[in-house]
Amino acid sequence: MFANSEILANKVILQEINDTNKNEYELSFKLDKVALIKSESFDDEPKIILKIESVKEFKQIAQNQSKLIKSFSSSVEDDGISIIIELDQFVKWTKPAQEKMTDHVKMSMNLIPDKKLDKNIRDIVIVIDAGHGGKDPGAVGKNILEKDITLMIAKELARTLQNTEGFSPKLIRSKDEFIELDERYMRARRMGADIFVSIHADGFTLSRVKGASVYIWSKTSSSMTADNLSDQKLLNVKNTNFDKLDFNEDLNRPYFLEEYDLTNKKSLLLADKILEELKRDPYTYIHKPNVEFANFRVLKLIDVPSVLVESGFISNPDDAKRLSGKPGRRMIARGIFKGILNYLKQENPKNTIMQDKPKSLTYIIQKGDLLSEIAIRFGVTVDELISQNKINPKRIYPGQKIKINI
Ligand SMILES: [Zn+2]
Repeated sequence: MFANSEILANKVILQEINDTNKNEYELSFKLDKVALIKSESFDDEPKIILKIESVKEFKQIAQNQSKLIKSFSSSVEDDGISIIIELDQFVKWTKPAQEKMTDHVKMSMNLIPDKKLDKNIRDIVIVIDAGHGGKDPGAVGKNILEKDITLMIAKELARTLQNTEGFSPKLIRSKDEFIELDERYMRARRMGADIFVSIHADGFTLSRVKGASVYIWSKTSSSMTADNLSDQKLLNVKNTNFDKLDFNEDLNRPYFLEEYDLTNKKSLLLADKILEELKRDPYTYIHKPNVEFANFRVLKLIDVPSVLVESGFISNPDDAKRLSGKPGRRMIARGIFKGILNYLKQENPKNTIMQDKPKSLTYIIQKGDLLSEIAIRFGVTVDELISQNKINPKRIYPGQKIKINI
């Protein structure tokens, strides 16, 4: 089925089973290239399956001396290999992450056994891309740079997700550094993203143009603004240095057309949900009432729903003012967060906290948190938080878990 073995991974080797600390195991595999990996577990038996597309060969070098893992086995199908990990009990597991080494790719995942679990569960991985950075400031406004705004929104979103049980946010960049566009989505693949969100706040030649918009990928743009943004800002990149270990989304797409079609539908749903939430925010003016389509190269992932959020135009004085302040940025982060939740409520991804359509989520209070702030970030009222959790607002403490209706 895969004609071109040059561009796809061929083998996987189980190299190590590490007892990282008393109750956590790390499995390390060696791949010849970054691969498209699907992973799932079952609710009724402690078993995890890793499906590695295109790979035909599995070898186990690691000695299995752990009590937790009963066995590894594999089965080869037309389109790849399935590695079946049989466990002794239910675990919290992480999606396999891939790391490029000098001549191979290290794929690793963690297993954390927990007697209290009645099924296998994993976190939902949300990869957040703060647009631009380092030598690339993005749009330049009066006393305001796009690269700084995007990073602050990204961190605000990550902060909410980080402390909400069942979610694992990962930042493409967490400081002011330059990262190539291709490296951004490739990094998201290696991180095992369930969802990819790229955050921008661009400028336009006309200063009256303002407001937020949400984009998904398309070969043809849906408007002039989209054309302008995608062609000039995001598409026109000279460096496309793929090395032999990379998974090239463009070259691989023809082999995964069905998958890509499904991903596009999911991206549209995700974008719709985020836009819906941004529209609810009284502070955020909306630039385009519908989800926009643009050829943004950062949205290329074949199997990961991906959206690009333009939080406003910093070339517009109103938007610049809104995004310069914490409340304005927080509303963008909240819109994205709630949009993601609403998307997940509809998708109910298996093996995750959202599988059983929960009515509430658990948030772990952090040092410096205020109930009023938490309420804003989740779009609930302080009174709701107090009555639902029967807490004294003056006596909240770090590490305290509270339920928040969603
Ligand atoms: Zn931008």
